[in-house]
Formats: sequence, structure tokens, C-alpha cells
Amino acid sequence: MDHFQIRDGVMHAEDVNLAALAKQVGTPFYCYSSATMERHFTVFRDAVAGLGDGNPLVAFAVKANPNLAVLATLARLGAGADVVSGGELARALAAGMPASRIVFSGVGKTRAELAAGVEAGILQFNVESEAEIDMLAEVAAAKGATVEIAIRINPAVDPKTHGKISTGGADAKFGIPWERLPAAFAQAAAHPNLRPVGLAAHIGSQLTKLEPVEDAIRKLGDLARQLEAAGHQIKRIDVGGGLGVPYRRDQAPPPSPADYAAMVARATEGWPWRLMFEPGRMIVGNAGVLVSEVILTKEGASKHFIVVDAAMNDLLRPSLYNAWHDILAVHPKTARTRATVVGPICETGDTFAEDREMEDVAAGDLVAFMTAGAYGATMASTYNSRPLVPEVMVKGAEWAIVSQRNQPAAMLALDAKAPWL
Ligand SMILES: *Cc1c(COP(=O)(O)O)cnc(C)c1O
Repeated sequence: MDHFQIRDGVMHAEDVNLAALAKQVGTPFYCYSSATMERHFTVFRDAVAGLGDGNPLVAFAVKANPNLAVLATLARLGAGADVVSGGELARALAAGMPASRIVFSGVGKTRAELAAGVEAGILQFNVESEAEIDMLAEVAAAKGATVEIAIRINPAVDPKTHGKISTGGADAKFGIPWERLPAAFAQAAAHPNLRPVGLAAHIGSQLTKLEPVEDAIRKLGDLARQLEAAGHQIKRIDVGGGLGVPYRRDQAPPPSPADYAAMVARATEGWPWRLMFEPGRMIVGNAGVLVSEVILTKEGASKHFIVVDAAMNDLLRPSLYNAWHDILAVHPKTARTRATVVGPICETGDTFAEDREMEDVAAGDLVAFMTAGAYGATMASTYNSRPLVPEVMVKGAEWAIVSQRNQPAAMLALDAKAPWL
């Protein structure tokens, strides 16, 4: 369910006409719908509300969309944040997310990043290695602080998703192999500045099967009971994020938040611990589109190319993961074509769709790449010295630029000729 609909022959984001918006801000640009984001967050929050100890924390995975306005929108609804860098921590705090709802994940947090988390007084560090246990203990001791940690386990389950976003397999770089968890807990408990109080797992992203998640959650429960029997006090269990979103209108959708919550309810029945969730994609994926103008069309030896002014530097997912985004005309067309949609970048990988049956758009027409709210703008770069794509947030009939297009002169100003040139 999203709020990008055709109205009077043109696609709108809520009550904002996307063609009119394109005239004002130029293309390409990302456009987010507040209502869609709010709806997805509240649907998820309400679905898991009674689980665990009855007070779950839904910590939005900031890496899916770290825009300040996005974070502030979610913060107002009570969202916490799952951050994976010092930069994301600073954004979550700046957006008004209280430290008591922030969890810090990541396989390679630096000492400076750990220190920033300790200073902010965040709820929990999800520690991913034995080495990090000792590092965090040192950092906390230097600040005279005691911090609560969860240990992220590698549950060794196959999440059955794309290899590049699969994080739960036995050989993934994430977490501590679950067999070593008791030893890691004992190691952490021996540090006076650490309080190991939780377990965490996150097995992958764009998950379309619930069974692997359920296996991981049951494993967390078994391990928590084992640790309690060994004398540790467990407070929280973080089951990660990963629920998939529908990218294609012509395919069956992945499990809904209600299906997911029913599975979690089953797997966590009778748990006394606080549950934590880290959804990213499912909150913001369908809440964003990338609007782009067709520069020209051209005929190859056998292919019909549509060349648009967005490129892989603006939306990397098709190039990186072979990901599918529906591409719709902002002014719907009845004529159909079979086309390969590409950007202007000098890489064959700069391809959004290969020989796809789609609406027949021509030079000057606008297209919308759907479901681009997650892992879109956040992965943008300035490759080919292209300006960073701007972001616009819509609420009802109002809109605001929430991230500026940086200008070529400003980008150039970051460089310097070396003194000998
Ligand atoms: C990326 C990530 C998430 C969010 O994944 P989604 O698929 O966007 O829900 C949650 N937790 C951790 C630790 C992550 O790395």
C-alpha cells in the first residue's frame, strides 16, 4: 500500500503532482510520502505491540534511509534507531531519537564510534566479535561508564535471499558463531564496564520466507535460556529486520507484517524478555520513488534503448543486486514497448531494466522508479562527477526539499591541486 497514485492523468505523491514538482526541483529527484512511511511504521509497530514482555522496541534501520526528515517523521511515532556508524548515530540523535531507543550494530565499529555511542548513552551495543568485547570494555572504562550489550550471533541459517544481502549464513562476516556464545558472554561479564544483557541476530534483507527467521528466533530463545541457566540475566532479544517488500506488481507479495508478527508470536510464546526489531526496507521501501526524465531514445543493433537522466550513481540497486524496480510513466501511456532502460554513465552496468515490456515513453517524458525509498538515495554517489540526487518529502499537499542537490562548483571545491601542481 502506498500513496503514489494516478490522478487526473498524472502520478501524484499524496496530493502533490509529480510533473509539477519535477518542474520546480529538476530531475532526477527522490520523492518520499510521509503518509506511506507513517502507515508502514504504525502497521508494524501495532502488529508486534503485545509480544515479548509487552514493550517491544522498533528500531528503524537507519541505513535504509538516513534522511533527517525521514528519521524525524519516524521519531515522532516512537521509533528507535538501529545505527551502524558514527554518522548514522549523529543523524538519529539530530532527528530527535532518544538515546534510550538507539542500538548500535556493525561488524567493525571503530574506537571513536564506540566512544560516541558511550557518550550519547545509547540503549545497547550489538557486539559482533570477541575482539570488540574487549575494545568496548576499554572504551567504556576510559569514560568511567558501564554499558549494556547484546551479542550478535551468527545463527548459521540460510535466509534464501540475494547473496549480497544475506547475512546469516555460517560463513558470513556478521556475529559470533552461536556455539561460542556462552564463552563470549562469560568474557563480557568479566569486564566491570560491560553488562551483557541481550542476544541479537539479523539474517538478511528482502526476506520472502519466514522459516529461516523463525529458526533464528527459536535459536535465540534456546540460547537465552541456556545463558540464564548459567547465571546470566537476559533482558532483551533483538530479532533484527529483513522483511521483504513487493518490488513487482506482477509477482506475489512477500509475507505481510501481520504474517511476520504471527510467526514471531509463535516463536516467542512465553518469553519474558523485551523484544527488539530492526526493520528498514519495509518501513520506507514503498514510500519513495525516483523521478527521472527521458533524455532520448535510441536503437541499438537489436535493442530499443530508453536513456534517462537518472543513473546507477543515483539508484544503485539494479546494478549491484540485479534488483527490479517497476518503471512507470508519470503521465500514463496506453502504448507499450519493449525497452532497455539505461542511465548516462559510462558503464554497461548502468542499466535499470533489460528488454522490459513497459509503457512507451519518449524524450521529455517523466518516469518513476517505484519502491525506491529504501537503499536508494543512501547509496548514491557522485560517480561521473554527477551531483548528488536531491530528496523531496511530501505531506498531503505540502512538499519540502529535504536534501539538496549539491552543485558541481561545490563538489569541485572539495578537491585541491597538490602544492607541486
Ligand atoms: C540492514 C540491517 C537491518 C535492516 O534490514 P532491512 O532488510 O532493511 O529490514 C537491520 N539490522 C541490521 C543489523 C542490519 O544490518
